[in-house]
Amino acid sequence: MSLILYAYNRNKRNPLSFGPVSTGGVLELTQIVSRAFDIGLSSLTDPQAAGPRAAVPTQTSENRNSSARSFYIETFGCQMNVHDSEKVAGVLLERGYRPVDAAADADFLLYNTCSIREKAAQKVFQRLNDFKFAAKANQKVIGVLGCVAQQEGEEIFERAPWVSLVCGSPSYRNLPNLIEQVESGGRRVTGLDLDTDETFETEITRRDNPFRAYLTIIEGCDYSCSYCVVPHTRGPERSRASDSILAEVRRLADAGYTEIQLLGQTVNSYRDPSPRKWNFVDLLLAVAEIEGIRRVRFTTSHPNDFTREIVEAIDATPALCDHIHLPVQSGSTRILREMRRTYAREQYLEKISWIHGARRQFSLTTDVIVGFPGETEADFEATLTLLDAIQSDGVFAFKYSPRPNTPSLAMPDAIPEEEKSRRLAILNERQRQIQIARNEKLIGARFEVLVDTHHTARNQWAGRTTSNRIVNFSTSRENLLGQYVQVHITRSAPNSLIGEEVQGGEAQ
Ligand code: SAM
Ligand code: SF4
Repeated sequence: MSLILYAYNRNKRNPLSFGPVSTGGVLELTQIVSRAFDIGLSSLTDPQAAGPRAAVPTQTSENRNSSARSFYIETFGCQMNVHDSEKVAGVLLERGYRPVDAAADADFLLYNTCSIREKAAQKVFQRLNDFKFAAKANQKVIGVLGCVAQQEGEEIFERAPWVSLVCGSPSYRNLPNLIEQVESGGRRVTGLDLDTDETFETEITRRDNPFRAYLTIIEGCDYSCSYCVVPHTRGPERSRASDSILAEVRRLADAGYTEIQLLGQTVNSYRDPSPRKWNFVDLLLAVAEIEGIRRVRFTTSHPNDFTREIVEAIDATPALCDHIHLPVQSGSTRILREMRRTYAREQYLEKISWIHGARRQFSLTTDVIVGFPGETEADFEATLTLLDAIQSDGVFAFKYSPRPNTPSLAMPDAIPEEEKSRRLAILNERQRQIQIARNEKLIGARFEVLVDTHHTARNQWAGRTTSNRIVNFSTSRENLLGQYVQVHITRSAPNSLIGEEVQGGEAQ
């Protein structure tokens, strides 16, 4: 039987002002995750706070044995990394470890890393120095997990000889065995297999977010975008069997979760490995039917696998959230070809026309890379006009970062850093104007909001609509965390909406 636990991570302290929006400068996904996760400590210490019923840790090895070895996991990167850490924490709990709130207090310190851009990877090596002396004095055991682990491999031991474990995500299924080796004094323990067709499933998952449960349905990636390390760090695509997914969603619903977010690098290329052979839409519809589940989200969709059936399924099924994150990367077909994205500008726009033509008012967000090698002013302008055409509610825009083992590393005509920064600033400003105009049109509208934050100082509540918009609102009611409420929008900002609860309009 699986157990679901959650824990509040005190490191995640930023206010929940995050939205699927463009931001100035390079947006680190670590920030996104941190902000997306802030739920306010009061929400968990308040006995009235509504949260999943199984959120109260009861009889686990965690609280049975307070003298157990302690662990702390610091996570960098995307939601998939966040969820991997939740499962790794489950593996440690199963082995009798106890979680602590600060790296300094942990016997076993794990860094779950991201190498999508150079900056993210560098940060990990800086962090590894923090507890160098403690590790050398055998007061701590340090492990590196995730994309940097897979990418740098045993080189990490050369750069940081005090590290004991290096394990990439394709090897997580072997973690219990690898941890056992570390516990018996093993040094330089590695899990660096890439060749796998298995997914990482755990008996216990220690969920950090009490309102939205992440669930990976597909791991790895079979695309080969010329700028991207993921196929090299996460291995080949492998989908999880539909039975196992549905069983976990049922357990989550029983535990009180009402919102599920299905995860995968290319989530919509899901192919059920079981004899049922479900496609992504079959799975979506089955998850949406599970009793107690009110919202089903998914990310990230690849445009090549994005079908009209997905839009039709969302249109016909209220529990499927009307938000699509569909990374375009560039508006120039020439650059898309160089990026090996497998679609042209016009094909992307055709898919967006399905979304614009839907009955429900979908929210759309996308990712863009500026300054890819050889990107001309005309290519960049094509990206700007694409943003005008698609009218998205948020853009995660990144400066191109050359990465090891990727084909684009050898491409000529690198764009200077200052020029990348200039283009990023122009793009972010253009998108900000789009969002200001779009959000203004929502004044007067009414949205159902799942409340996930209470800003105690200003007594304001916040949550998300089914379209993933952030709504800050006031109300005379109390104890709203985890509840669905109706909010009337009175003001707008580029990244969020502001309103008041519709009294008597509570949604159950
Ligand atoms: N699988 C998703 C897709 O196909 O769009 C993207 C996953 S990737 C982890 C998240 C985002 O990071 C990408 O959409 C891209 O915008 C950005 N990214 C990936 N490699 C990058 C690089 N070398 N430089 C800058 N941004 C990059
Ligand atoms: Fe990277 Fe492309 Fe795979 Fe997305 S689809 S993870 S960008 S290789």
